[in-house]
Amino acid sequence: MLKLYRAANLQEAYLIKGMLSAAGIEVHVLNEHLQGGLGELPFSEVYPELWLEDERDATLALRILADYEHPLPGRRCGFCGEDNPGTFEICWHCGLTL
Ligand SMILES: [Zn+2]
Repeated sequence: MLKLYRAANLQEAYLIKGMLSAAGIEVHVLNEHLQGGLGELPFSEVYPELWLEDERDATLALRILADYEHPLPGRRCGFCGEDNPGTFEICWHCGLTL
């Protein structure tokens, strides 16, 4: 297994786990039962961690994580002026290529 990410909290850990699962990547959340130990254990040991089951998935997993941490800015259509999510390649409103 390969350590992929240290999440700020369990919600974030499961959000990312869900994104990776949707892409067919199996990950495990470690430390999920240690959240109550804050104050007793060193901080770095109580954050939930995401571990990759298969290291061959690392490239795709890291790309998904990069998109998560640095989402593309939205793009405004030059033709109709609608705002589109950064992941869109054509305008949802008029179909023009962004
Ligand atoms: Zn448009």
